Amino acid sequence: MILYNEKFVTDDTIIQIEDRGYQFGDGVYEVIRIYNGKCFELDNHLERMVSSARKIKLSLPYSIFEIKKNLMELVNKEEILDGKIYIQITRGKSVRKHHLPKEPSPILIAYVEELPRPFKKIQNGVNAILSEDIRWTRCDIKSLNLLGNVLLKQEAKDNNCEEAILHRNKIITEGSSTNVFIVKNSKIQTHPENNFILNGITRQKIINIAHNNNFIISEEAFTIEELLNADEVFITSTTLELIPIIKVDNKVIGNGFPGTTTQKFQNIFNEEISKI
Ligand code: PMP
Repeated sequence: MILYNEKFVTDDTIIQIEDRGYQFGDGVYEVIRIYNGKCFELDNHLERMVSSARKIKLSLPYSIFEIKKNLMELVNKEEILDGKIYIQITRGKSVRKHHLPKEPSPILIAYVEELPRPFKKIQNGVNAILSEDIRWTRCDIKSLNLLGNVLLKQEAKDNNCEEAILHRNKIITEGSSTNVFIVKNSKIQTHPENNFILNGITRQKIINIAHNNNFIISEEAFTIEELLNADEVFITSTTLELIPIIKVDNKVIGNGFPGTTTQKFQNIFNEEISKI
């Protein structure tokens, strides 16, 4: 079942070759978690989608109220317990010219997929590599242009790692599809919100959890060296939740096991999930 603009359809051959999303990556998207048949952080995801759309001068074809109503109907129709919604809005079909079309007809597509929670990774942690951040400098926009992220994620896979942790001028920005946190002497640190990172919904949740539970957290850039010498490193995203990083470029982080601070956050995060 696909939400196509405001209709529910089953035919997935509806993409037009001159859709600007297809030809230019001209559009924005969101991935929203479904736990126990309910959407997690839906309003925050939709708010970020509105913000991304505004940044690329794309007027949304529907109100947030309508989009939210249709997404919830889609989730109910599919009867999925643990899963995700993928939603994208492109600038739609127009003659292939770089300039923005005068009268665009945006296309909204959304569908739901089953996605089990990654318990093994959450519990045991994963390995990462360090890679130069080769992406553009508007990483704050959740745009369909993901080729940089795709190549970086593949580099991680080719090295038998889960994630590529990215750096610009020796400063850690984020992962290829995650935000990165370090813990040193119980102090938590993550890159500040700016154009070099996507302000993850899970990242925001972690910062809130930290503030509400008397953890010391700062949104302050840190270097490769600080990452490698951290007591704990963890990554966050909507699909991966909170995953400990136990090795970076084959260097063991801390004692090589998921750290206690990371585990505390995982527990509080679980409680939040069970509340929805
Ligand atoms: N950074 C990048 C580059 C991402 O692609 C993602 C996941 N979409 C994140 C961070 C994490 O964001 P969120 O917690 O909203 O999934």
